[in-house]
Amino acid sequence: MKPAVLRVAVPAPLRRCFDYALPDTTFTLCRGMRVRVPFGRREIVGFLIGIADQSVIKRERLKSVLRVLDSEPVLPEELLSLLQWAADYYHHPLGEVLKAALPVNLRQGRDLDAGAVRVWRCTDAGKALAASALDRAPLQRRVLAALSETPDGLDAAALTRAVHGWRSAMRSLVAKGWAQVEQRAAAAAEPEHAKVISGPRLTTAQQSAVTAITDALDSYRSFVLDGVTGSGKTEVYLQVIEAVLRRGQQALLLVPEIGLTPQLLANVRARFREPVALLHSGLTDQERLAAWLMARDGRAAIVIGTRSAVFAPLRLPGVIIVDEEHDASYKQQDGFHYHARDLAVMRAHRLAIPIVLGSATPSLDSLKHIAKGNYQRLHLPDRTGSATLPEVHLLDLRQLPVHDGLSPPLIDQIRKRLDAGEQSLLFINRRGYAPAYMCHDCGWLAPCRRCDAKMTLHKRSRRLCCHHCGSEGVLFEVCPECGGSNLHALGEGTERVELALARLFPQARIVRVDRDSTRRKGALQEQLRRIDAGEADILVGTQMLAKGHDFPNVTLVGVLNADQRLYSVDFRASEHLVQQIIQVSGRAGRAARPGAVWIQTYHPSEPVFSALRRHDYSGFAELALQERETAQYPPFVHFALLRAESPAPQVALGFVRTARALAADCRKQDSVELMDPVPAPMERRAGRYRAQLLVQAKQRRPLHMFLSCWLARLEQAPTGKRVRWSLDVDPTDMY
Ligand code: ADP
Ligand code: ZN
Ligand code: ZN
Repeated sequence: MKPAVLRVAVPAPLRRCFDYALPDTTFTLCRGMRVRVPFGRREIVGFLIGIADQSVIKRERLKSVLRVLDSEPVLPEELLSLLQWAADYYHHPLGEVLKAALPVNLRQGRDLDAGAVRVWRCTDAGKALAASALDRAPLQRRVLAALSETPDGLDAAALTRAVHGWRSAMRSLVAKGWAQVEQRAAAAAEPEHAKVISGPRLTTAQQSAVTAITDALDSYRSFVLDGVTGSGKTEVYLQVIEAVLRRGQQALLLVPEIGLTPQLLANVRARFREPVALLHSGLTDQERLAAWLMARDGRAAIVIGTRSAVFAPLRLPGVIIVDEEHDASYKQQDGFHYHARDLAVMRAHRLAIPIVLGSATPSLDSLKHIAKGNYQRLHLPDRTGSATLPEVHLLDLRQLPVHDGLSPPLIDQIRKRLDAGEQSLLFINRRGYAPAYMCHDCGWLAPCRRCDAKMTLHKRSRRLCCHHCGSEGVLFEVCPECGGSNLHALGEGTERVELALARLFPQARIVRVDRDSTRRKGALQEQLRRIDAGEADILVGTQMLAKGHDFPNVTLVGVLNADQRLYSVDFRASEHLVQQIIQVSGRAGRAARPGAVWIQTYHPSEPVFSALRRHDYSGFAELALQERETAQYPPFVHFALLRAESPAPQVALGFVRTARALAADCRKQDSVELMDPVPAPMERRAGRYRAQLLVQAKQRRPLHMFLSCWLARLEQAPTGKRVRWSLDVDPTDMY
């Protein structure tokens, strides 16, 4: 038999596959297997994409595969072909795409059966321990108690759920011989629960949504579950999942952020006996691989994960659900710039299964698909039970004094809730104390040395931080420009509002929720627990507080800086502003007591606010879509953005100019339009100068044909070696 030529995708920034020889043909080869190959001066893990009899490269010059790593494909054919489609659509190198879709251990070439998990168990000595022996070490006592309740032992995920901060306690327990750790093949790690809670009786609207979806379980169909906050979308998901599980199939549920959806997870866990695999960034590599394998071999009936879980391998997929489909976090912003929601739709289509896109504020893209008849809208117009949507009030800041971001009427509202024993939620989309630090003598504003941006003041840690590149510096006592000492914070962030509230209401228990307050592992869970348990009176936070939670005791939502996005250069800013305010408003009055929303603004007559007051997202969206159509913005035209960056000024701009010139060879007609090469709106970030070039087209086909031709030329361009460049198809962040 003639030795085969293997076509291999390698993780390298080149949009083509490479041919390798396989001298020993005793292997059964399949697409989707991993191979170790020499590449340049390195050895890397590549993916077998195809087998050919010959190559354009002379056989004696063909390098050989070093080793075939798998005896079966790591990626099922369905997923492999989806990823090939995605590599074409996003014009990203296939090897990089495949790599992004795999757990880290597998990228590195580890064996598939390396997915064993570590499990901790209580030893006999630990069981025999007197109850009082750990009186001085309560954490160890709790960990040991959790272990002794489960003779089969607990894995890291289960321990994390059971005892916050268990690892150090476990180290002591193991050292003392009271607990032991063992490796175990990744089994269904989920403990069986005693009983399964049954769901409530569905409302008519919920029932017709469930029926519409379950009637379509054998075919591709896109549904937009458009339900106001608190309308019971989760219940619809659960019933659909139940129907899918009854058929012996798996359900894939995508969520924006796992840590922010504990209630959804708890609901799923309480409802089903079947094992759930969780896939998110908070896992160790080992845990991630174990969950991935559970999805792949079908042990996990339900797979829940964030963005990259759209690439979870599924043995028997039955439905895909994307919760909060409008959420910006579904778009990957670096490397392989995919959109998980869009890929989920494509995957469902290829699998011939239904997809459900749930949101209280569907994206304009999805609404346009509904209008065109591509997606079917399922509407849940009302909150469940007696809960009503909160009343929305505007506070005209032009006529009100504001201190630390708070106006007197808003302070009065907070006081009323405090007196009534109810919770208030204050939303401000900026962390830190103040977004700028200024010298009042000469006007100097503390700049970031590596970005065209101002430093944010963090008062507690007494530091200046750049939120764009992460640089930090100590607080200046005197102005480096004029030597004056008249330095002040300008504007406000969550920390400032928190401190102001603590002064105004010394008795109130305040919980701040933002990236800073939740950095420590488990901190967010602890804060959410305190809020749930009623151990908080006022919650201050960023959009982290807006997502997914049910806070039954919150009856007041205050939106502190609604104007921040009103006059942004980003054409999506108003869509995001309205979505965010509706989401955060949706936290109020979800239980028996009605809620109210107070929005502070300098522009009360803006149409977005009247839409918010009427709870008229549809009306807003309809207008916004008309505006997009008139202005010829997405979703009415398709964008692709070429970005480049370089440590030296002008180099990136030079590259995008070259790119513009190279485009001439590829533009067949005028159906593809190129804008001028420009510096990025924030030209310098993290010490790099950035430039960009926007390409747009009314039709996708000519755009993709153009991009293929153009990128091939860009890969060859010598100036391309001097910059870091990337292409973003359907960019959501233009800046
Ligand atoms: P959404 O996700 O649409 O914001 P949820 O799914 O969180 O809404 O539901 C809001 C509340 O209504 C939850 O407490 C849920 O348990 C409850 N709920 C959902 N469906 C029903 C129903 N059919 N009858 C009674 N309560 C329900
Ligand atoms: Zn000064
Ligand atoms: Zn910076």
